Amino acid sequence: MDRTAAPRTVRSSSIPCAMLLLLAGASTSVLSTPVLAEERPRELSEDIGANAAWRRGVPIIDVHGHIGADAVEKTLAAMDANFISRIVNLTAGKNAEELARAKKVFDALGKGRFILYVNDPYLNFPVEDPGFGKKVAAVVEECVRLGARGLKVSKTLGLYWKDKAGKVVRIDDPRLEGMWEACARLDIPVSIHSGDPKAFWLPVDEKNERYDELRDHPNWAFGGGAFPPREEILRQLENVVARHPKVTFVGVHFGNDPEDPDHVAHLFRKHPNYNADVAARVPEIGRQDPAKLRKLFVEHQDRILFGTDFMVSPAGYILGAGPRLPSEAEVKKYFDAHWRFFETSARQVEHPTHIQGRWKIDCIDLPVEVLEKLYYKNAERIILKRSGPGEAGK
Ligand SMILES: [Zn+2]
Repeated sequence: MDRTAAPRTVRSSSIPCAMLLLLAGASTSVLSTPVLAEERPRELSEDIGANAAWRRGVPIIDVHGHIGADAVEKTLAAMDANFISRIVNLTAGKNAEELARAKKVFDALGKGRFILYVNDPYLNFPVEDPGFGKKVAAVVEECVRLGARGLKVSKTLGLYWKDKAGKVVRIDDPRLEGMWEACARLDIPVSIHSGDPKAFWLPVDEKNERYDELRDHPNWAFGGGAFPPREEILRQLENVVARHPKVTFVGVHFGNDPEDPDHVAHLFRKHPNYNADVAARVPEIGRQDPAKLRKLFVEHQDRILFGTDFMVSPAGYILGAGPRLPSEAEVKKYFDAHWRFFETSARQVEHPTHIQGRWKIDCIDLPVEVLEKLYYKNAERIILKRSGPGEAGK
């Protein structure tokens, strides 16, 4: 790894101590202990354990979680054990009633550490409904008034959701314009999941590199012509992103194209309103040339957000994918695999989500300044520093 081109030093000496305290303390509350400038490491270690003190000093935001309102305390314990200051709950409710119910619980128990999004509000009405766009916009508006900080659109749009004639509704269907326009008007970001890994369009057999995952989730197999082609779905997504430059989009799962980072970089350059989270795709991007991928993260350091797809219900956790309920020790291993990937230059190590493929990954030891943007600064700018009424718990 070329360390001379982009040294991973913390330029702590150039930042006044008071400002550091402000940065560390302003947005947090939480488990982070502000770290004094002189105590901060000048360079992160190859040992993720040794980086723990630094990580405790940065208010890490996981922008991609799915947290049940009946699992708030369980989630807080996992967050405390794994350096997560705040988490975005992308699936807090698909209408005002659900959102209000969730908000009440997260406000009461969440200690200001959960950021709630309204999800898939278009599912409340048939697309043929007269005034469909206006009705969906009204739901988004009401949810934002109740405290939602963003909109999540799942892969249901573009893959599963159908009109009365049984045809899949396109992501760029004009009837959805009201929803996107509401997001521009309300100044809320949109986390959007469109498509899935290439292997999901291939036959489900031993030769499929995602066989383990598809065997557990047979409804994720999109081959055989019954679903729109993957490339077509990505085109529809880009049409919407291009049509709504005032809406800030976060393409989940590494911009919805983790197998082709060049394409994601192309989208970043072409559409200043397109960003990406890394949720559940470290296994994918970890297969890329690490030097090249590191360069992409450095070049587009303002556009990539940390997320894990951490899912919590009273029954347990789901880590990125898979039905098996892991132990707390495995949860720690899952987060540790993320820290290792972003903070070290380890080669051919285990990735966070075994079910997503039987291969090893190469890590990309990002410069500290880039890590801080990835771990929380980009999320603060894109999600929190907006005109919304405030996240749950505040
Ligand atoms: Zn997710």
